[in-house]
Amino acid sequence: MKRKISILGATGSVGTSTLDLIERSPDRFEVIALTAASNAAALAKAARRTGAKLAVIADESKLAELQRGLEGTDCLAATGPEALLEAAAGEAEWVMAAIVGCAGLEPVMAAVEAGRTLALANKEALVTAGSLMTDAAARAGATILPVDSEHNAIFQCLAGSRLQDVSRLVLTASGGPFRTASASDMARATPEQAVAHPNWSMGAKISVDSATMMNKGLELIEAHHLFGLPGERITILVHPQSVIHSLVEYVDGSVIAQLGSPDMRIPIAHALAWPERMPTPAQRLDLASIGTLAFEEPDAQRFPALTLSRDALMAGGAAPIVLNAANEMAVAAFLDRRIGFADIAKSVAQALDTIDLPAPDSIADVIDIDREVREKAREFMPLTAI
Ligand code: NAD
Ligand code: MG
Repeated sequence: MKRKISILGATGSVGTSTLDLIERSPDRFEVIALTAASNAAALAKAARRTGAKLAVIADESKLAELQRGLEGTDCLAATGPEALLEAAAGEAEWVMAAIVGCAGLEPVMAAVEAGRTLALANKEALVTAGSLMTDAAARAGATILPVDSEHNAIFQCLAGSRLQDVSRLVLTASGGPFRTASASDMARATPEQAVAHPNWSMGAKISVDSATMMNKGLELIEAHHLFGLPGERITILVHPQSVIHSLVEYVDGSVIAQLGSPDMRIPIAHALAWPERMPTPAQRLDLASIGTLAFEEPDAQRFPALTLSRDALMAGGAAPIVLNAANEMAVAAFLDRRIGFADIAKSVAQALDTIDLPAPDSIADVIDIDREVREKAREFMPLTAI
């Protein structure tokens, strides 16, 4: 029996890596639905190659182009929120959530509520909806498989163990492109410098998040919701080579780590084949040629996003939504050259200090809070380039 799969965000970095693996093992998978924001040409090509039944484009003005690209196939072209939800909660039993940002929240929740197996790359959905999502997964019998490399590593290190035997989770961080940069060089950093990650090839938003280390802050919140440990028992360790993807420390002092070359196809393949394993073309780890693995404490002074996210996790309620929305706005403004690199964390701090909203009781509340924060955060971000 082939596993029936849908990919939300099929044209992005994680989406194309997922397609690459599926196309290498056509006997294992059947593609049901693919979605994208606006790249109709790439979406149509991927749907043709994989024989997908449904292709959904978020940008309505691109529907005609998608339809032309799919002429002569049996694939249905669609647009709009309903179609996106159909892709998430339709025929596929396994769904890759690889949309970037809070935009992925509603389709992720649709897949969870339909009881699907959800391979979760879209960390912003879990950061903002947290326990609403994990509670819904428990109610609907959905399985959430972490795709983020650190969380996938922890998931692998926990296999067969009891949570009460875990003393600590250790999230590793490469430190990003500015690990050794001075604060003044960082303040002058350009978008080109910020997206040039030393180890991983990723989409623009997560690359900037890695440069500010907000990515690790979001991952701290993500780990708390996925594994149920309080923030105090989740620590961050800088490991520049990105060979150890994270570690679990047990009460007896044993530490289990997961290692591999920095290639997202490894955690994606783990989720694709779970509970089995499948081959990938990822480079094998050659520890003798790497020679030495290095570790250091993160620098909270140069990377204030780490403290901001830990504070947001501790504060709970709407704070993680404020953190995430202000960060998405600030990263977009930085990529547009409207604010400087150091202003990203400053904007997030300002949002957390000034915006006080009640805790969400539902996904609709999360979406309302996200929208309200974006409107307020707009006030302290310039509209034109600096
Ligand atoms: P990306 O920017 O390369 O791709 C994003 C995908 O989402 C694209 O297919 C795009 O068309 C779609 N999309 C964007 N906005 C949308 C919208 N408003 N509506 C519908 N679709 C939309 O991003 P990525 O690097 O692949 O990251 C995807 C997610 O995975 C992010 O949440 C990121 O944090 C997480 N993640 C990525 C990596 C990585 O190596 N790239 C690693 C770990 C986690
Ligand atoms: Mg990660």
